[in-house]
Amino acid sequence: MDKKLLSILVCPVCKGPLQYKREQAELICYADALAFPIRDDIPVMLENEARTLSEQEREERS
Ligand SMILES: [Zn+2]
Repeated sequence: MDKKLLSILVCPVCKGPLQYKREQAELICYADALAFPIRDDIPVMLENEARTLSEQEREERS
């Protein structure tokens, strides 16, 4: 994933920062507990395509 692209991406819901999870190919917004998928190197920044984080994943934040 392009680092420059990553740095300009924000959560479409809260406009907050996203965390890139390389191993999952996801961009995570902890404020909304949503994970946005990255398909073919293209982040899918759509709320209805996002996955809700599990309880455990939310705790991993810190
Ligand atoms: Zn958000």
